[in-house]
Amino acid sequence: MPTSKNDLRDSFGRIAKKLRISVTDRCNMRCIYCMPYNNTNWLNQQNLLSFDQISHLVKIFASLGIENIKITGGEPLVRNNLTLLIKSLSSINGIKSISMTTNGLLLKDKVIDLKESGLDGINISLDTFDPIRFKAMSGIDGLDTVMESIKMTIHQDIRVKINTVVIKGWNDDEIPQFVKFSKETGCPVKFIEFMPLDGTGIWSKDLVVSKDEMIEKINNDFGRLNSIANDKADPARLYNFEDGVGTIGFIPSITKPFCQDCDRVRITADGNLYTCLFEKKSYNLRQLLDEGRSDEYISKYLRECVTKKPEGIIKIIKNHSLKPNLNNMYTIGG
Ligand code: SAM
Ligand code: SF4
Repeated sequence: MPTSKNDLRDSFGRIAKKLRISVTDRCNMRCIYCMPYNNTNWLNQQNLLSFDQISHLVKIFASLGIENIKITGGEPLVRNNLTLLIKSLSSINGIKSISMTTNGLLLKDKVIDLKESGLDGINISLDTFDPIRFKAMSGIDGLDTVMESIKMTIHQDIRVKINTVVIKGWNDDEIPQFVKFSKETGCPVKFIEFMPLDGTGIWSKDLVVSKDEMIEKINNDFGRLNSIANDKADPARLYNFEDGVGTIGFIPSITKPFCQDCDRVRITADGNLYTCLFEKKSYNLRQLLDEGRSDEYISKYLRECVTKKPEGIIKIIKNHSLKPNLNNMYTIGG
């Protein structure tokens, strides 16, 4: 792989190419695997990065080799005027794609504007097709609204994927329905192993459905899955079926972690850099902007921070240190 002295390279030789930007920690859902109950501990709104500050940071990240942006949260669509941010980011030299992860509640009326502003991919989270279960898992009576958003988005000229967090005893019995959904709509479904990033503290190994268990279930019902070659750094390993219809992915963060290929870094809505989802330490970039530091200074600082990127969840697993609520997904951004 060609190298440059300006790479965001860590001590394990991994080079960051993707930046996840959380634009808010707030959310209009309360998913049982993510958001703490009755959370009143939101980030101070006055500390959120402005769109100009985010764009400024992305220009610096792009000069250090970042190519792909994912906008996330909390729920990104609760932040107003997001299309302005996307337009600004899509004009930055070196940025090749901008995607978003959303729960879909507010998506239907915004999807066309989002696409026109330069968004080229949308991941929509959906954990169940059952309205009662949907309410139990997300705290909101919103299945119909999310399904309408999904249908509307599938009909736009934009990459759409479904993200499904699988939790034993909650929704693992619906895996075949998700496969059918992918076969009927052509929309890829990514099954995500439940990670200890739960604000609720409910995570336990017993609630994790492994990639192997999911594959066995799917092979029994739909025939053999065939692995599709995809980007090594993409956390989702992709598969299709003998009949070529439908695409399934797995994010096996717990049972087959992919830390060695990780090419992602993240910033929170208040401008803290996390080089790993499972890192406790973060680096305050907003302060550097507020102090008026030069781009050269911030670039050098970013390179130093990334050098210290930890090995990842793989190390936590090796040390037998998995436990609930290792970090909060809703703050760092999934
Ligand atoms: N609110 C948006 C959404 O739900 O799509 C974006 C933010 S959410 C934190 C990003 C992704 O992380 C979602 O697909 C969500 O299902 C996933 N997620 C949240 N908590 C998780 C956990 N504990 N384990 C695995 N995935 C999780
Ligand atoms: Fe909100 Fe997304 Fe977390 Fe659910 S997963 S509570 S929708 S941030």
